[in-house]
Amino acid sequence: MNIISQLFFAIALGVAGFLFYTKVRSIRRNILLGRDINRKDHPNERLNLMLRVAFGQSKMMVRIIPGLLHLAVYTGFLLINLEVLEIVLDGLLGTHRITASFLGNTYNVLIGIFEIFMALVTVACIIFLIRRQGPVLRLKMDELRGFPQLDASVILITEIVLMIALLFMNASDQILQSRHVEHYIQAGMFPVSVWITPILNGLSNEALIIVERTAWWFHILGILAFLNYLPYSKHFHIILAFPNVYFSKLQPKGQLDNNEAITKEVKLMMDPEAAFAIPVEENAQPQKFGAKDVFDLNWVQLLNAYTCTECGRCTSVCPANLTGKKLSPRKIMMATRDRLEQVGKILDQNNGQWKDDGKTLLRDYITEEELWACTTCNACVEACPVNIDPVSIIIDLRRYLVMEESKASESINVMFNNIQNNGAPWAFSPSDRANWTQNLEIVLP
Ligand code: SF4
Ligand code: SF4
Repeated sequence: MNIISQLFFAIALGVAGFLFYTKVRSIRRNILLGRDINRKDHPNERLNLMLRVAFGQSKMMVRIIPGLLHLAVYTGFLLINLEVLEIVLDGLLGTHRITASFLGNTYNVLIGIFEIFMALVTVACIIFLIRRQGPVLRLKMDELRGFPQLDASVILITEIVLMIALLFMNASDQILQSRHVEHYIQAGMFPVSVWITPILNGLSNEALIIVERTAWWFHILGILAFLNYLPYSKHFHIILAFPNVYFSKLQPKGQLDNNEAITKEVKLMMDPEAAFAIPVEENAQPQKFGAKDVFDLNWVQLLNAYTCTECGRCTSVCPANLTGKKLSPRKIMMATRDRLEQVGKILDQNNGQWKDDGKTLLRDYITEEELWACTTCNACVEACPVNIDPVSIIIDLRRYLVMEESKASESINVMFNNIQNNGAPWAFSPSDRANWTQNLEIVLP
């Protein structure tokens, strides 16, 4: 590699790193628009959860075939990135397979393992690509039309092309090594790319060097482009899955968070004397109940939105969706992310100042019909491979409807009236409650 190539590589690396950093910083800013919530408790339990669910992929294995294919892509991604580290060092220093000199035989074994994973990743991505055209319903739903479908295909095709480039690079490299061409040191074991060598064997040394260098540049520039595409794609979950699982809820799934202000009100109703004992806060802001827009959600819910992989496992187990209702928990997460991205764009256009665009997450992105279709069964939370909680967003939006707009569905309003009038959700007077016992015969043993 000459000095001009090294310089070009350093500039490409710098530009890609800067662009990635800028986008990640804006995503972090967007997530932190959310309300604060304490998720720093029980660090050991959280770490265990992260190792098991995010690193160990434990929830993916519920569906064994896609789980194993995903594991191959994920492990391949982690391992092959080690080779990318070497490629970066070689690019900056003008060396070739720099780590081979001090890793010795270990290097050969590692390259062999990487090659096996390159093949596995390629096969898994091809199967995923075919599967997306097949009968799996959750991969064909309305919310995936347009960019989400395209995004999934772009990523899979990119991964296949990048793996093939690496294999061609190794195939040409091993022929150059066998011909003792200067600069191509004896290093590596090539159990997969050896099958490509017959295609290249007839080429001259010069032509092989062109193939090897082209594949090298194609791979590394592809990786840098991929890195910058990630934050715009659902595939950003390969990074966010880890913090998302770490900060996920540790309490039982169905447990709702109490609203502090309401708890206080109820306590005061039960003990009116205490009302006078509580000092009135000066300049206290009026309490807002529930969530109307992304600003009212907490930062973990917003992190959830950016982490969603759009896999649809949640929707495929949602009883509301399965019975033909409009609700899809995946769409709840996608809509939250779309709204958050829109809010971020407005902030960017106005030097960080918020300018109301007349839209809100509630109604413009998620309809009341969707919200009231939820049974709060939490099957979606259980199914999510990265511990996302769509129900908490649904509950917060419903809370806003009920407590700020007095707008509940008809059946819930009937229940509210019954509770108010009868002290129970049923339409019977409290004095009639024991009527059912009147004709009972008491049989003594
Ligand atoms: S909690 Fe709601 S959104 Fe989730 S699976 Fe149950 S019905 Fe569907
Ligand atoms: S919320 Fe979870 S299960 Fe649902 S689509 Fe997103 S990642 Fe998949």
